[in-house]
Amino acid sequence: KIAKKSGVNYLFHTQSMTATTADRLALELRLREAFDKDEFTLYYQPKVNIASGKMVGAEALIRWNDPHIGLIQPDTFIPILEEIGLINEVGRWVIKQAIKDYLSWREAGLNAVRIAVNVSSLQLRNRNFADDIEQAIASDPRVAAGLEIEVTESVIMGDVEQSVEILQAIRDLGIPITIDDFGTGFSSLSYLSRLPLDILKIDGAFVREMHTEKGGKMVSTIILVAHALKLKVVAECVETEEQLLQLRKLDCDQMQGYLFSKPVPADVFEKQFLSLS
Ligand code: C2E
Ligand code: MG
Ligand code: MG
Ligand code: MG
Repeated sequence: KIAKKSGVNYLFHTQSMTATTADRLALELRLREAFDKDEFTLYYQPKVNIASGKMVGAEALIRWNDPHIGLIQPDTFIPILEEIGLINEVGRWVIKQAIKDYLSWREAGLNAVRIAVNVSSLQLRNRNFADDIEQAIASDPRVAAGLEIEVTESVIMGDVEQSVEILQAIRDLGIPITIDDFGTGFSSLSYLSRLPLDILKIDGAFVREMHTEKGGKMVSTIILVAHALKLKVVAECVETEEQLLQLRKLDCDQMQGYLFSKPVPADVFEKQFLSLS
């Protein structure tokens, strides 16, 4: 299994520029194999209403559980899945799995919350994407209450018109749309009004700087703009009580972050955060 070993090398060398073409090729093969062997898994992180302190949703975050190296974080492999064209298949699996988990919690009589799924801008170029969700809802109407879509500002990198159309179709099905990592991309304000959105998620980089004078002003301004556009606001990467207090003062709607919980496996999420409804 030389290829397998080499693929692992690539993972550790991507940042240092020493990866060879062979390493890279091996990793692509490994990723395809990982998909076939069901090595991807979903973790869940609660989203909490700041005013009530109650969990109001959760975000599904993909992990690759490699039998040799263990858990691998998505930032290392999602860009490669996008490059090799495997993101559509994996993305479809993510949605299927999130729906499956959500419905199993409902079946068990638990107070299942809406699950937000991250979607690559490449998936939004594909009309089948909306059809998949439509079909899922057709087969079980409860799905409409269980799903939310998170997209990043990179949707603007492609065909915006088409992305808008697909997002609108999904939104029409009753699925809320969140703009993720807000503030880190380009020309954010121009398409805040163009995209069909329900929720704005402030990027963790802003939350981290919130204690400074400028940083605080940035966050309060983003919240004001979002509320003016009738969007709910979520702050991500909330790690301290101070940040939470400040966000509450600024009228931020929801928070997510290590302060409340790290992302956890589905069974842990169920045990820790879901109770009989
Ligand atoms: P994201 O959607 O912005 O997710 C937030 C990231 O912040 C997650 O990293 C989460 O684990 C991390 N995080 C949450 N709370 C805190 C905190 O308090 N402090 C710090 N330092 N970090 C926190 P993760 O899980 O490694 O995911 C990274 C990115 O990978 C995600 O960013 C998302 O863009 C992408 N991703 C994850 N799952 C999927 C997926 O199923 N499909 C696609 N296309 N992308 C995904
Ligand atoms: Mg996200
Ligand atoms: Mg984010
Ligand atoms: Mg991110």
